[in-house]
Parts: sequence; structure tokens; C-alpha cells
Amino acid sequence: MSKNIRLRFFILPFVYLLLTLTVNAQTLPARYAVIPENPRPGEPVTIGISANAGAKSAALIVEGKRLTRAAFFPVPAESAPNGGQQPFMAAVLAVPATAKPGSAVIVVETATGNLGEIAITITGREFISEVIELNPVLTGIRTEPDPQKTAEADHLWSILNRSGADSYHFGAFSPPVSSTRRTSFFGDRRVYKYSNGRSDVSIHAGIDYGVPKGTEVTACGQGRVVLARNRIVTGNSVIIEHLPGVYSLYYHLDKIEVTEGALVDSGSLLGLSGATGLATGPHLHWEIRVSGENTDPDAFIARPILDKETILGKMYP
Ligand SMILES: [Zn+2]
Repeated sequence: MSKNIRLRFFILPFVYLLLTLTVNAQTLPARYAVIPENPRPGEPVTIGISANAGAKSAALIVEGKRLTRAAFFPVPAESAPNGGQQPFMAAVLAVPATAKPGSAVIVVETATGNLGEIAITITGREFISEVIELNPVLTGIRTEPDPQKTAEADHLWSILNRSGADSYHFGAFSPPVSSTRRTSFFGDRRVYKYSNGRSDVSIHAGIDYGVPKGTEVTACGQGRVVLARNRIVTGNSVIIEHLPGVYSLYYHLDKIEVTEGALVDSGSLLGLSGATGLATGPHLHWEIRVSGENTDPDAFIARPILDKETILGKMYP
């Protein structure tokens, strides 16, 4: 045996031990589940953790930077696969549409510090690019400073960043119109060309359904109406709270058929589609926000927001 190989035999166990210790130091001292473990930019991640772990919030860290944060809320007791009733805490965290693919970390925070970390991988995703030309009126809506517009934006932000105590909907969402014709997709990179020759870049926050004026718009899931009023930029608008921090938004309606504070079911009529506010033609803009962050509505149609059985199956294998 050469000196080199002997040295390697001597050092390797220590390196292995060190690596194991490093990994163990980061793992959570509690039962938990993360769904999905490989989200794409714009998708939600649901975290379940033992009710007695003391988890208060979860933060998504990419390249050392905290991108989003979500509060944990209690989930009613459910029969665990191993028998018995198991209450747990859950948080729905958004992966921003601008998040860089690669390794990321979810830090579970307590009232006083960090409980531990969960490693996830953000997978790659392509988004569409489009150019939208705005006439002088629409250019004005987007670019002219207006105290009313600022007040409306502040009000919207205060609603979307609220983390209420009520849970109304755990399952998958239903599309808000029966038509499948889409004129814009989530995450489209948009260049707005203004009538004054200037331009601006933004990311489309939801899905646009190209439906004629007067089309019935329905709630995507159970919840409470937290906003039902006219706004300068988004026209006649409705917002529903489904879970703490999880909201669906419906913009540019011709007519609103619900009032603020009302409880709605999945499929309840919210209003009729139109072209109010900043709209180049009749359409429904449907958007989902998770702790204030734009999130891909298709991810909420594809799978339940909070699949209790799957979460408990991972927590109690
Ligand atoms: Zn839109």
C-alpha cells in the first residue's frame, strides 16, 4: 500500500464524518413534508410540519438571498396513515417567476430563530416574450402619477400581505371561465410600447382568457371575498382569500356580482367579464397571489394546494 493510499484511507472517514455532521446540523428536528421538492419558477411549494415543532414561518433562500416568506397556519386534525389524528402546521411558499434555477433552501423559522433547513431544487423554465402597444389613454393609465392609483395599490398590497386565520380551500382550483382560449400566459415577459415612444418591461402576473364581454366569471375555489370594487388600473376587480396568504384575483370585469365579506363556493358567480381598466380588449385576467407573490394559476389547477393525505404520508411513512 503506497503512502498516498494509506493517507486517503486515514483521511476519508473524517471527511465522511464531517459531511454527515454538516448535513445533520441542517436537517429539521421535526417531521415534515415538502411538495413538490423540484418546483419550477412561479410555482407554489407547500410545507407541512409537526404542530409541536414551533414553526412560525418559512423562507425561500436562493444564492443567499431571501426571495419569499410565508407564515405557518394550523391544519385541522386528519387521520394519519399510521392511525390516530395528526394535526399539523402548513405554509404555502411561492417560488418567484424570476427565481434562478438550481439549488435553493427553505429555512423554517421559529419565534426566536431558525429550526432548520430543507434543500430543494428549482428546475428550469422558459417564458414567452411579447410586445404590447398602448394608445395615449392606456399609456396615461400606466405612466401618469395619480394619488388615487397609489392609494389603490397600497390597499391591494395590504390585503395580499395579510395572513388571515381562516382556511377555506385545500384542494385544486377550477378555471374561472369555461373557455380555454388564452391570449396571455403566466410569466410572459412583456414590453409595453407607450404612445410617447418610451417603453417599459414587466412580467405578466396571471393568465388572460380571451372571452367576449359578458362571459360568466366564477370563483376558482371556496373562500371569502376580500375586495370587490373598481380600481383605475385593473377595472372592476374581485379578490378572494382561500387560505392564509393565498388569494385569487379577477380583473377587468364589466360587472361585479358579489360584495366584500361574502363567502363563495367553487363555481360561484363573481361577475361578468369585460374590458374595464387597463385593457386593450375584452378579456379576463386571472391571477393567484401567495404571500404577495405572483404564482402560476396552472399549478393550482394541476394539484391540490394542500394535499393533507400526501403530506401526512410523507411525515409518517
Ligand atoms: Zn393579464
